[in-house]
Parts: sequence; structure tokens; C-alpha cells
Amino acid sequence: MISSLSKKIYSYSKLAELIFFPSFCELCSSLLEFPRERVICHACWKSIRASHPSYCLCCGRFFEALEEPHVCQVCLEKRPPFSHHRSCGKYKGKLKDIILLYKYRHFQVLGKDLANFVYRALGREEEIWWKVDAIIPVPLHPKRKKKRGFNQAQIIAKELARIKGIELRDQMLLKIKNVPPQTSLRVEERAENVSGAFGVAKGNKIKGKVVLLVDDVYTTGSTIRECSSVLRKAGVKEVKALTVAQA
Ligand SMILES: [Zn+2]
Ligand SMILES: [Zn+2]
Repeated sequence: MISSLSKKIYSYSKLAELIFFPSFCELCSSLLEFPRERVICHACWKSIRASHPSYCLCCGRFFEALEEPHVCQVCLEKRPPFSHHRSCGKYKGKLKDIILLYKYRHFQVLGKDLANFVYRALGREEEIWWKVDAIIPVPLHPKRKKKRGFNQAQIIAKELARIKGIELRDQMLLKIKNVPPQTSLRVEERAENVSGAFGVAKGNKIKGKVVLLVDDVYTTGSTIRECSSVLRKAGVKEVKALTVAQA
């Protein structure tokens, strides 16, 4: 009885919202009419292919050819400072558009939806979540965070930590140098750019832990590598990484 009443009240308030404040999908312009549809419609979310069938089992780099997942030549020659990295999808099409809306048009509400997208794509991948003690977002420099108003990786990491019941440690890894954005640089400049840009907070109690780094986009992997090296030097036993999309 109460639930049917609350459903009625909900549908009336949704109806009023639709009449007085109609909102439309930022990607396809269709009316957002379903509960919890915000900014992007359900159909657009559903049309994004979550996960990629062919990738390196270590660095997570997507293979162009549809090969079975295996460890790539680069990782065979030199293992990265993290043990596993996985991205959900390619940084293109609607997934790219959503990430750009989220980061640069201040649709902060999309952070939770992106975390849910990550969970749908990779939430059951054992090797990513196995024995993870803490989730750590890739930090922004305080000046950049102030300018944007939020850290895009932190919102996604927080929601993933909540869904998976894992501790969030978002004050532990710090961006200590305000370097130019990686997207503004050439591929060969990126590793140098982030070298020495991250540090670990004092009294962090992270020794011997297994952590999962979370970021929005993986391009050359320089940021994830640098963060992983810093964490390993601080005594972290194992670093894994998860990104929404891979360029
Ligand atoms: Zn749409
Ligand atoms: Zn690899």
C-alpha cells in the first residue's frame, strides 16, 4: 500500500518535473523520462560497448587484432610497476563524449554513472579486485582541482569503493607538482612530464597493502606507471589499476 502510494507520488513528481523542467539527453537529445536518467539517456548508456575482448593481461593495452588475452611484448621485456591494469572501453564515440561532458562541462553527476559503467564492465573480473585493501584515485594538483571544482577520478573511485565495500584512500597519493595536462603533450613528452609529480602523504599506513588505482583515461600509461612507482617506493605490496577508457 505504502509502496504503491510512494510510486504514485514519485510518478506525479516525475511528471511535474517533465512538464516544468524537461531535460534532454546531451548526446541524442531524447527526453530524459525514466527514473534516475540524468544528462545521458539509458539508451545511449546501453549502446556503449563495455569491455574489450583482446588485451594484455598485464598492462591492459587493447590489441587491434582479436587475439586471446596474453602478456604483450613490452610487458614481457619489462614488467610495469603495477601488476594488472584494465580499461572498460575505447576512448572514442559516446564513451569519449561522456567523459568530456563529465570533465569539461561540469556534469559532475556523471561520475557515479561512470563508476556504475565500470562496475558493469569489470566488477566481476577476479584479478582486478582480488585482495585489494584500498582504492586510490589518481590525484589532481590542488590548483587544478580548484579550477575544475572536483577530481574526476576521485568521484569514480569513491563510488566504486562504496559498491565493492573497499576502503577509499583519497588523501594518500598527492599531486605535488602542477605540471601541464598530459593531453596537451606529445606521447614522448608524457613520462618526463609526470616524473616527480606525485608523492605520498606522511603517516599513510600503506606498507604491505594491495591497492587499486583509479583514473578516467589511460593513454600512454605514464601517469599510472608514475603513481605505481611512487606507491611501491612507499612500501605498497602490489598496485593494480582501473581506467574507464583507453585512448
Ligand atoms: Zn541519448
Ligand atoms: Zn602489456
